[in-house]
Amino acid sequence: KNGRLRLPDWLKRDALTSNQNQLKLKKQLRGLKLSTVCEEARCPNIGECWGGGDDSPSTATIMLMGDTCTRGCRFCSVKTARNPGALDPAEPLNTAKAVASWGVDYIVLTSVDRDDIADGGASHIAATVKHLKTECSHVLVEALVPDFAGKTECVEVVAKSGLEVYAHNIETVRRLTPWVRDPRAKYDQSMSMLEHAKKTNPSLITKSSIMLGLGESDEEVEQTLVDLRNAGVEALTLGQYMQPTKRHLLVKDWVTPAKFDYWKERGDELGFLYTASGPLVRSSYRAGEFYLKNIVE
Ligand code: SF4
Ligand code: SF4
Repeated sequence: KNGRLRLPDWLKRDALTSNQNQLKLKKQLRGLKLSTVCEEARCPNIGECWGGGDDSPSTATIMLMGDTCTRGCRFCSVKTARNPGALDPAEPLNTAKAVASWGVDYIVLTSVDRDDIADGGASHIAATVKHLKTECSHVLVEALVPDFAGKTECVEVVAKSGLEVYAHNIETVRRLTPWVRDPRAKYDQSMSMLEHAKKTNPSLITKSSIMLGLGESDEEVEQTLVDLRNAGVEALTLGQYMQPTKRHLLVKDWVTPAKFDYWKERGDELGFLYTASGPLVRSSYRAGEFYLKNIVE
């Protein structure tokens, strides 16, 4: 016995139904040299995110700054090294050009943490946003960024780069943070980075995500939501933690769909502009659709 819990029925997804738009994006992607988190992580939401719809834009997530992180969070399967190597200076422009020739409407830029680089990659991310806004101004941009080891000047560089949504994930409740996240990540530090982004550029939407099922209590989740609101955070996602490999943290609970609905309600009551909450919800889940429906009238 390894103490692993059986997968509940609501997490067993049928084979994905691909729609026209998803197939189109997939075809266009070939040859573009863009690596999407959606495909690489075999995200179960790809049909909904890429599919979009008549009035809902398609969303995709791409990863910048390589595939190797300087941190090692206990829920994450990205590889770790102390010195992952130099950044590709051509990546910001090449990424923007590739996205421009692709058909996606809302792009989430995410990255590994690069504590080995003086600015944590902030100027690299900002350059990518700027090129995106030049190459394809209609594409809405969200950046899911590191905590920049608490350096507020790095937050400012990204916050002023022209993006629509500044996201940084708190991941879990305060008590579990040292256990779940890399020891360099701190609950209060993450909160203040989010707060600083909003202060730097009040026209930004700030966003954060929490994984449930790691042993947190309802009171602790509630407190995290309150803390996020106090830091000015406006968009929230909650999803089920899934163990990526046997070497990662065990799932403590399968949180029921009804409980996720409850947190969606609490998010609305606490004044988040939108809350996406469900077992399969990920930080970038249908982000474009939520943005347009809840932020732009
Ligand atoms: Fe891609 Fe994120 Fe949607 Fe998954 S949830 S398909 S990673 S955009
Ligand atoms: Fe994974 Fe991000 Fe943690 Fe790096 S900082 S290990 S990419 S969750």
